[in-house]
Amino acid sequence: MNRFPNVTSMHQAASAWKAEGKRIALIPTSGSIHPGHQSLIREARLHADVVVVSLFANPLQFAANENFANYPKTGDADIAACEAAGADAVFTPAVEEIYPKGYSTYVSEDAVAKPLCGVSRPNHFRGVITVMVKLINIMQPNLIVLGQKDAQQVSVIRKMLTDLNFNVDLRVAPITRDADGLACNVRNRELTTLQRQETTAIHRALLRAKEMVDSGVRSVDRVIAEVTHILRQQRRVRVIYIAIVDPDTMEPLREIAPGSSLLTMAAWIDEIRLTDNIQL
Ligand code: AMP
Repeated sequence: MNRFPNVTSMHQAASAWKAEGKRIALIPTSGSIHPGHQSLIREARLHADVVVVSLFANPLQFAANENFANYPKTGDADIAACEAAGADAVFTPAVEEIYPKGYSTYVSEDAVAKPLCGVSRPNHFRGVITVMVKLINIMQPNLIVLGQKDAQQVSVIRKMLTDLNFNVDLRVAPITRDADGLACNVRNRELTTLQRQETTAIHRALLRAKEMVDSGVRSVDRVIAEVTHILRQQRRVRVIYIAIVDPDTMEPLREIAPGSSLLTMAAWIDEIRLTDNIQL
């Protein structure tokens, strides 16, 4: 297991792998490795010669009120978890190296990034894309593996890769869930037992939506009303948005088209913001 702690060492290793004709997969993460990240590593393992995980909590993705300073720091357990899932190397740059003093170049996507999470987190995707472009230049991947858990992020990155003519494949791994249905997420460990119990309503509501569509319902309003009803029964859950959208553009649909409609939502569980989604 190799650890590249700075840009120069990572860039040199990637160039050497390329010279040997190796296919490089990048799994970008914010650290705090959990089974969701590990499923991405396993997926990458099937499609690349070298699997590299970036462990970098990106301050550009956090708004001033989102407490970047409290985000868990990368440690040895993260590196061991990457290795256990089959990664060959990790890239662990310091924030000051990725954004040195005076840094002033940003990349944004102005359509797919606007609705849903883009409304309440207006600079979030600009941060996501800026660091993604930097990681691509440093790590020279042939393949990037992302999680369906962050469906809007997948669509924004796919659009950026196309718009900017990056020659990089994208694979999307399904959502990994804990036994109670909650999507694995670094914030889950902050939930109290009571909050966690209420939060399981999210997956129940998503499954109910899928069941409605499978039984023939095509009305966006009816499905959203049902999901809202289930979530409203939880005292601690506050819905930020529930939408049924085109999975490529994130634009709201008038009618559900099975196989190409995504129900996506975000909610506060007291002070903890969670997102989830299901393909209908
Ligand atoms: P993060 O560390 O939250 O920045 O996420 C890094 C990558 O892991 C992103 O592509 C996420 O979509 C993906 N990911 C996070 N949670 C899950 C999950 N529960 N299942 C699948 N992928 C996930």
